[in-house]
Amino acid sequence: MSEPSIFSRIMAGEIPADILYEDEDCICINDIQPQAPTHVLIIPRKAIARLADATAEDKALLGALMLRVGDIARKLGVDDAFRVCINNGERAGQTVFHLHIHLLAGKSFSEGSLSMQ
Ligand code: AMP
Repeated sequence: MSEPSIFSRIMAGEIPADILYEDEDCICINDIQPQAPTHVLIIPRKAIARLADATAEDKALLGALMLRVGDIARKLGVDDAFRVCINNGERAGQTVFHLHIHLLAGKSFSEGSLSMQ
């Protein structure tokens, strides 16, 4: 069995984090290296390594996470303009192998910024 991810350790209370919201499905924390004035991570309690590892069993959970994104954006007052991002795999920039959704807001996003090298 693989080591618990840093996010599982945060959820277990072993590592401190800035927890903004939590419920039975997920937690939401401030990103430690923010890429925008608002940069939070929505992280399911279930340790799914990558989005590509989610299965049909996770359908309700994935839906719940997306709804949480909207709720959290409203709570943070950024629901009129935000971007969500999920990095899947090392070559796509994933560094923590526990599924998480980046919610970024508070800066302007150019159309070309979805490009990958
Ligand atoms: P990714 O590169 O998509 O896997 O995103 C991982 C994100 O987790 C990065 O934006 C990191 O800055 C963030 N991160 C890593 N460790 C922590 C931590 N202890 N608390 C909050 N955010 C973290």
